[in-house]
Amino acid sequence: MVTLQGKSVYNDVCMGKILFYARKEQVIVRYHVDDTDAEIKRFHEAKEEGISQLKKLYDKIVGSVGEADAAVFEIHQMMMEDLDYCDSIENIITTQAVNAEYAVGTTADNFAAMFLAMDDDYMRGRAADVKDVSERLIRILQNEDTEMEDSDGDDHYIIASDDLAPSETVQLDKDKVLGFALQMGSTNSHRDILARSMGIPAVIGLGEEFKEEYNHRYAVVDGFTGTVYIDPDEETLAAMRKKKEESDHQKELLETLRGKDNVTLDGRKINIYANIGSPADVVKALKNDAGGIGLFRSEFLYLENDDFPSEEQQFLAYKQVAENMARKKVIIRTLDIGADKQADYFNLEHEENPALGYRAIRICLTQPEIFKTQLRAIYRAAFFGNISIMFPMITSVDEVLQAKAIAAEVREELENEGIPYRKDVETGIMIETPAAALVSDELAKVVDFFSVGTNDLTQYTLAIDRQNRKLEPFANTHHKAVLKLIQMSTENAHKEGIWIGICGELGADTTLTEEFLRMGIDELSVSASMVLKVRNEVRKLDLSK
Ligand code: PEP
Ligand code: MG
Repeated sequence: MVTLQGKSVYNDVCMGKILFYARKEQVIVRYHVDDTDAEIKRFHEAKEEGISQLKKLYDKIVGSVGEADAAVFEIHQMMMEDLDYCDSIENIITTQAVNAEYAVGTTADNFAAMFLAMDDDYMRGRAADVKDVSERLIRILQNEDTEMEDSDGDDHYIIASDDLAPSETVQLDKDKVLGFALQMGSTNSHRDILARSMGIPAVIGLGEEFKEEYNHRYAVVDGFTGTVYIDPDEETLAAMRKKKEESDHQKELLETLRGKDNVTLDGRKINIYANIGSPADVVKALKNDAGGIGLFRSEFLYLENDDFPSEEQQFLAYKQVAENMARKKVIIRTLDIGADKQADYFNLEHEENPALGYRAIRICLTQPEIFKTQLRAIYRAAFFGNISIMFPMITSVDEVLQAKAIAAEVREELENEGIPYRKDVETGIMIETPAAALVSDELAKVVDFFSVGTNDLTQYTLAIDRQNRKLEPFANTHHKAVLKLIQMSTENAHKEGIWIGICGELGADTTLTEEFLRMGIDELSVSASMVLKVRNEVRKLDLSK
């Protein structure tokens, strides 16, 4: 048995024969052309054909994978039409008097290298897309078949390869593919997003140890741990079969709940939303049938950058999430940096007690230029979807009023500049300090909603540093003090006619679902993979008893 370790893309187990995907090697010949105008025309014709193919591919798969995932083909269309990309190709044809295939290939290499050099994981993932788009163009220019060929046999198989382009991934016969095992891969590329949404166990980054000599050998892909076993021994096989059975059973059970209401047996309905940390997570949220995004931790943009993310960069990220969620609610939490989330360029001083220190709203209120940039991006993005704003780490009404005053300034600036934005954005706060829960009667008068951050609320109520593993034996997540604060906040929210949710980890603790519903909690925002599990729990409850 050979055991190889990679990174998991989708949690599931499969077993079967490995089939190395044989991609036709593209050979690009460079030759001189006399008539460069005619060559540019040939490139444009190929581009038109490419765009038409991509449109057809979009239509073909949108029904099976959904709009968010099929969007990869819209992105490819945009890439094919991108001015810089096309200029580069035309420029190479004209200045070097060479054929279009060569110009496209060279441009693809240059652009992919440029993307790969970027710090942002998402942008690095675009290198695979630009190569994919260019290979399509080259195949059209060379009059080759553009669609992927798979195995002729009827067998099911584990697709193996060095890497797979997104368009190759979606064209695989879903009914025949048991899983993916790839040598390369970054977890942010569209290929991985697609693998996830297809619900196929996938392990990437297996490295060169994963060789073609394993073609047709029997293997197990454990997408839970990112392990691939080739020629598994009996013991491993038995363990994996058991794991698969459990996972299948769980999936079947939960699948039946897609599209169903989050309603108790006696008719009480609540919202179940998903927590996300980046635009790419929206796929998971939709796949798991989340009713909205209850917490978009916007820090990712700051933590992944070497410098403050620009208004435009933030605007595009928020807009993407809002658009992908269509009309569903997307609650963007404003910057929550500090404590355990540090970015060097903030130049935050060393603190004795960072969790009790200069973080989140405290940074935003004392450095309003940082806050304003983010708020501008959010108000602008809200023009394109159902966005709400949420302030973290609130302890007093005064902080909320200050934050709202800055938000009002931002709206006025946008108005004066004639930039499209949405005026009536719902504004809420996190209840994650005991102070906020204790003055929630006053806070409820100045905001549109509450969302309880039980991770911090527990840390501050029990005086237990959530980063300190030694304190785990003392961390009673069901401590009455925390539950009483949630209860108090709920009553105060409802007295003022506003809604209240829970977006901390406790929201996904199904042993507390009944208690939360009895308290009157209106929304639970949990990690995407927990949405159906919590729905399952809600639907079993009868609050009339
Ligand atoms: C919380 O504190 O419960 C919360 C949701 O925020 P974070 O975990 O990002 O601090
Ligand atoms: Mg928190």
